[in-house]
Amino acid sequence: MLELPVLAGTAPGPVATALPVMEQFYTIQGEGFNTGRAAYFIRLGGCDVGCVWCDVKESWDADAHPRQAVAALVAAAAAYPGRNVVITGGEPLMHDCGPLTRALQAAGFQTWIETSGAHPLSGRWDWICVSPKKFKAPRPDVLAHADELKIIVFNDSDFAWAEEHAALVPATTRLYLQPEWSRAARMTPALIDYVKAHPRWQVSLQTHKYLDIP
Ligand code: SF4
Repeated sequence: MLELPVLAGTAPGPVATALPVMEQFYTIQGEGFNTGRAAYFIRLGGCDVGCVWCDVKESWDADAHPRQAVAALVAAAAAYPGRNVVITGGEPLMHDCGPLTRALQAAGFQTWIETSGAHPLSGRWDWICVSPKKFKAPRPDVLAHADELKIIVFNDSDFAWAEEHAALVPATTRLYLQPEWSRAARMTPALIDYVKAHPRWQVSLQTHKYLDIP
């Protein structure tokens, strides 16, 4: 379990006990290492990464999403039988995730994060998935804590980009290549060939989209 403080000079302010929430829902984690496991998703508002293919652009403006108290978020998650919570976004590390993750763990939850790694790491995490984006570089100090590196493959040049980032994570980090959804038909065959030739990587698919669940 990892806990890191908000780094000096980057504290997001005194309101971390309430966070902007775009949506929250109980579903199955569709991608990456924890694929297939039930989890409560909390999608925080706010992102400055700017991926052109982003499928949650409505998350970008944090002010567009009402703030919810940490206690209310924990209570909402606790209404379901699963005890895994995914904090995603947006870019969740634009906020101090410490109070929320500590409260979730105190209530018996495993805390998982999906982050681009572009902002300082805060919070107390059981699983850190870093999915770096070309539009805002990941921080080396976040990559150093990645349990999972998930590269979204949009075109053929992304395989070399994936290797560049694999060189920046610990040797124990799980490595995944995942086709960008709108390019899946085009890129999945190339991705399969790549993983067969470079077997330290694994294929990740957005199975929740194939299952038509959130
Ligand atoms: S980091 Fe995520 S939320 Fe932000 S622009 Fe990229 S895909 Fe969208």
